[in-house]
Amino acid sequence: MKKLMSLMLCCVLLMAAAAVALADGTFQGEGTGKGGTIKVELTIENDEIADIAVLEHEETPGFADAMDTLRAAMIATNQVDVDMVAGATLSSTGFIEAVKDALSKSGIAPEALVAKEAATQTADREAEYDADVVIVGAGGAGLAAAITAAEDGAKVIVLEKMSNVGGNTLISGGEMAAPGNWLQEKEGIEDSVEQFCQDILTGGDNENDPELVRVLAENALDAATWLRDDVGVEFEDYMLFFGGHSVKRSLVPKNASGVELIEKLTARAEALGVVIHKNTPAVKLVTEDGKVAAVKAEYNGQEITYHAAKGVILATGGFGSNLEMRKANNPDMDEKILSTNSVGSTGDGIIMAQELGAQTVDMQYIQTYPTCDPETGTLLYVGDVRLEGRAILVNLEGKRFVEELERRDVISLAVTEQTGGVSYMFWDEASMQASGVNASHKQEYDNLIERGILVKADTVEEACAHFGIDAVEMQATIDRYNQYCQDGKDLEFNKRGDLIAFTDGPYYIMKTTPAIHHTMGGLKINTEAQVVDTDGNVIPGLYAAGEVTGDIHGTNRLGSDAIADITVYGRIAGHNAAAQE
Ligand code: ADP
Repeated sequence: MKKLMSLMLCCVLLMAAAAVALADGTFQGEGTGKGGTIKVELTIENDEIADIAVLEHEETPGFADAMDTLRAAMIATNQVDVDMVAGATLSSTGFIEAVKDALSKSGIAPEALVAKEAATQTADREAEYDADVVIVGAGGAGLAAAITAAEDGAKVIVLEKMSNVGGNTLISGGEMAAPGNWLQEKEGIEDSVEQFCQDILTGGDNENDPELVRVLAENALDAATWLRDDVGVEFEDYMLFFGGHSVKRSLVPKNASGVELIEKLTARAEALGVVIHKNTPAVKLVTEDGKVAAVKAEYNGQEITYHAAKGVILATGGFGSNLEMRKANNPDMDEKILSTNSVGSTGDGIIMAQELGAQTVDMQYIQTYPTCDPETGTLLYVGDVRLEGRAILVNLEGKRFVEELERRDVISLAVTEQTGGVSYMFWDEASMQASGVNASHKQEYDNLIERGILVKADTVEEACAHFGIDAVEMQATIDRYNQYCQDGKDLEFNKRGDLIAFTDGPYYIMKTTPAIHHTMGGLKINTEAQVVDTDGNVIPGLYAAGEVTGDIHGTNRLGSDAIADITVYGRIAGHNAAAQE
């Protein structure tokens, strides 16, 4: 009996030893993020999370930052169920899933991890910082301003409330209107600053401030050249023809993605010594002797003061993600409408400046992008085939209802009047080949096909059947359109640009709907990017650039004018703030 007991004890001890041995070590796991598979290696020491290494991932740089945040939180708390990173839900989910998968292989259940009190993350932050120029917001405008100010010799700190830089610029296509650009020259397209001004004014129903428009138009080409030569942004060798422009003038960054802009702007800023503090929302502007002299921000629940000896630049973007602010300014823009915006676009800069008496303009003008994902509101880059003049928009009845290269607001309004408030974009295989959107935006393409929002079919009839579109009408629409192409004139909607007839299948149809995209209103600035108060006087020490400003695009911003705007005014703000005494 004694022998049996000691044998059993030995077994129990051996099993316990095996359990410990199983828990400590490195374990790999997988999850699915926004861009694809995320593979991690988890190191467990003494039953605690000692480290997490990301072995493989396809997240874009901004979203990849979310994984760093989660990793730090998991190690600090010894927990895997940590809060998702706002604005990076899919990347967060994929990363957490991968870590849990790895943990399951260690034999430790997530609830068996003993929680630790997270050491306060403020240890790496002071209560006060001194800079010449403090910039709020690390989107395109903020980073362009930061680089310019740093090139002028200023000490610059950029505050970013999210865990990743980039804002709406990152998730945009990054296209930039620039009259007289190098590709227009190559293609023999005549353009001028004057014509660009006219397009912006007409596109905005002449509600724009013509002086602000002129400065934008005059400096757009220089800004594009600066991005290319100074910042190192790579541009594709083709342009896009955005709605409302009178000629094709929009440059396209590498992969038709704002990622290229943000990556290069961030690298250049950091090379110049610009400090970027992420997870640090600015909450208040502080004045001293009538001049804006500091920004109060929060980091991990702690207040930090950033002193700005020369000036503060607000580059906080628009307010497309602030439902209350949207509704207060335009009741039509309620919760029923989806949004393409980054979650950080909550109008903070406008609110902070208003506390100092800043003037706002055009707040009611909120733009919807006409062809977004009908389920999520995400901007669909596969739809760029339309901007290459190679797709038509039809309704459920199989009929065209608007000029496909019209202004965004005109198309959006027309779509809302169609059955179900949706439109169907149609194109053929030749157009797919020519535009290459299935390759340049492969993840999006695959995802749309998987969810049935985009269909590829051998015949027009089959493609129509997927959505219940009237196939007979659709064929008649295609035949009519092809005739217009042959005659060189679209008799129904007078479509601009080259008219290219549809030929053989396979055919593609994508279901789309309008979603909130850009807030045209914002802070009133002068041509020096200084913020103006309700009496029209400059607020000393305060500058603003980008979507946080108003009066540049009037009632409606034309596609690709935002990148021109944020770069031009970001540079002006950076330069002027750095020049302050
Ligand atoms: P723009 O195109 O004008 O540059 P973006 O949307 O690209 O605008 O960038 C604005 C950035 O400002 C976003 O990264 C957003 O998260 C950030 N931001 C917004 N509000 C604040 C705030 N209160 N403090 C710090 N950053 C902010």
